[in-house]
Amino acid sequence: MNKFINIAIDGPSGAGKSTISKIIAKKLGFVYIDTGAMYRMVGLYAFEKGIKLEECEKVVPYLNEIQLDIRFFEEGQKFYLNGKDVTTDIRQNEISMYASKTSAVKEVRQFLFDMQRKFAKENNCIMDGRDIGTVILPWADIKIFLTASVEDRAERRYKELIEKGQDVTFEQILEDVKKRDYNDTHRDIAPLKPADDAIIVDTTGNTFEKSIQVLENVIRENMK
Ligand code: C5P
Repeated sequence: MNKFINIAIDGPSGAGKSTISKIIAKKLGFVYIDTGAMYRMVGLYAFEKGIKLEECEKVVPYLNEIQLDIRFFEEGQKFYLNGKDVTTDIRQNEISMYASKTSAVKEVRQFLFDMQRKFAKENNCIMDGRDIGTVILPWADIKIFLTASVEDRAERRYKELIEKGQDVTFEQILEDVKKRDYNDTHRDIAPLKPADDAIIVDTTGNTFEKSIQVLENVIRENMK
C-alpha cells in the first residue's frame, strides 16, 4: 500500500503529457516525474558513445557507467547525466529517436524501473510515460491515457522544435512521430497501451488551455 497519491499519465509522443502534467502537478503541489527524460538520457549516452541507432542494444554493457540525476528547481527540473546538465541536449530530435530505440531494450527498462518506482513511493506525484499505469505503478490512484491524432501531435512537436530554433520540417516530424508510435506500440516489453482501468482523454482539436482544463477536471473528479 502506497501512502502517497500517484497519478499515471501515459500516451503516445506529442500528446502533451509532459507540458500538461507539469502545470497540473504544480497546481496540486505534486512532484512531476518525466520518465521520457530518463529514456532520453540513456539514448543520449548511446549517441555520445557512437552507437548506431539500429544497434541501440549495444548500450547495455555501459549501463553501469550511467548515473542519472533529476534536480528540482523553482523554475523547473534539470536533468543530469553523469553530473552534466543535459536538460537541453535530450530534447534534440535525433535524441528522441535514440530514446525510442533504447527504450525497447529490456535491460534499459529494468535499469530505470526501480528509480521510477522509488520516486512514486516517496512523493505525491504525477508520473508520465508509456507504461506507468500498466507496469511501473499498477496501483496508481488515477490512470489517464492521453492521446490525440497523429497530425495534431506532429504539429505540436513541430512548433515546439521550431520555437527552440531546430532545423526541422513538418513532414520529417510527422514521419518521426509515426515511427515512434510504431516502436512504442510494437515492442515486446511494456508496449504502449492504455491500462484496463485508464481513463482515455483525447485532446484532438483542443487548444492547449482546453486540454489542461479537461485533464485537470478529470483528475480532480477522480481524486474525490
Ligand atoms: O515522452 P518522451 O517522448 O520524452 O519519451 C522519449 C521516448 O522514451 C519515447 O519515444 C518512448 O519510446 C520512450 N519511453 C518509454 N517509456 C516511458 C517513457 C518514455 O518507452 N515510460
